[in-house]
Amino acid sequence: MKYAEVIAIGDELTSGLRLDTNSQWLSERLGELGVRVMYHATVGDDLAANVRVFREAIARADLVVCTGGLGPTADDLTRPALADAVGLDLIQDDAALATIRSMFARRKREMPERNVSQAQFPAGSRVVPNPHGTAPGIDLTVARKNGTSCRVFALPGVPAEMREMWHVTLAPAISEMTGGGRVIRHRRIKCFGVGESDLENMLPDLIRRGREPTVGITVSQATITLRVTTAGSSDADCAQRMAPTLQTIRDCLGDLVFGEEDDELQHAVVRMLKSQGLTLSVAEWGSGGLLSQWLSDADEAGECFLGGFIVRGQRQSQLLASPNLLAEHGLHSTHLVQAMAQRCREQFATDMALAISAFPHSDADGGVPGRVAFAVASESDAGGETHDSPFAGHPDILKPRAAKQALDLLRKRLLRRQ
Ligand code: AMP
Ligand code: MG
Repeated sequence: MKYAEVIAIGDELTSGLRLDTNSQWLSERLGELGVRVMYHATVGDDLAANVRVFREAIARADLVVCTGGLGPTADDLTRPALADAVGLDLIQDDAALATIRSMFARRKREMPERNVSQAQFPAGSRVVPNPHGTAPGIDLTVARKNGTSCRVFALPGVPAEMREMWHVTLAPAISEMTGGGRVIRHRRIKCFGVGESDLENMLPDLIRRGREPTVGITVSQATITLRVTTAGSSDADCAQRMAPTLQTIRDCLGDLVFGEEDDELQHAVVRMLKSQGLTLSVAEWGSGGLLSQWLSDADEAGECFLGGFIVRGQRQSQLLASPNLLAEHGLHSTHLVQAMAQRCREQFATDMALAISAFPHSDADGGVPGRVAFAVASESDAGGETHDSPFAGHPDILKPRAAKQALDLLRKRLLRRQ
């Protein structure tokens, strides 16, 4: 099988009222069975549009899984659209109709006449039972002119019904189609500290299309994720195929790599603090508590992150640093943030403290970006360590990026202590 297409049907999806979670879920499951998904299509409740989407999918994919549009109402068009797309009549399946009737009887309700439509299938289809809903699914193999075929599964849109039908019927059927013994696996390596193009330049031709295993890059709020993907006969086979690529990435990127899979910088920092037996407190100004929130979530038991100050104004900053320092060096200075870190460490009696300065206005100095400053204080080096960096970018990422820069400064410091 070359690849699959997933189709999501419904006006509620194309209008943006509801997020299409079915396609994401199905694509993950297909990947687990070793089937690569090449296309996602989302289409509203319109017969002509549905027919077109089915025709295109059946022409280009060997397996099509669609969800939605199997209900009994006038806007549920999957049955007629699929029949029209492949030029087949809709035929009533009496056994399916009896099942639907008995479903209503069990709920002590009379079956409305329009539910009869849910027992109609394009000629030659098999019924995909729906143990907990009235809409049975469709399993139809469509022969193409060139002698190949495409297998189409249509499932209801209700996520719980769709998932159950996947597990009971589709997963075994698709495993049989692929002959089993093939899985697709992903590994994610998390990096921080450079831009994505610089990071790509550090990797020797790994991102090239068609490479095996494939390596993809995504960036989210300054965290770069390298996603390594391969197909193999088992988990162990995939792990073996990926190992050299994972090693090359680690060798090339060194300490830019902070973790794997769902790790965030705070998890890496908390792990290192615990393994080194150190405690931490934080003093935040611009980040407004974000560091404290991340660290307390990552250190649920409170073994190493002991607390923090959130400062929101100049007067409050005097809790942590003298007004003279502020007057002399300014709000965003490394001097001030260093004093904040040191005072915080003393107040919380922690081994280390991390501080973030106030954020400058991003349009300060006639468009020249201001700077944000960070400091780490620790017992062993009275002077601690400071860093500052330009403060520019989309407003949505300024806070998380600054919090990550602070965590990364601490992470690098802890790496050097090991
Ligand atoms: P339908 O099978 O089209 O009658 O859809 C029934 C319900 O399932 C809809 O009202 C949505 O709430 C939900 N639904 C349909 N398609 C999706 C989808 N792709 N992702 C998440 N929920 C969906
Ligand atoms: Mg619908």
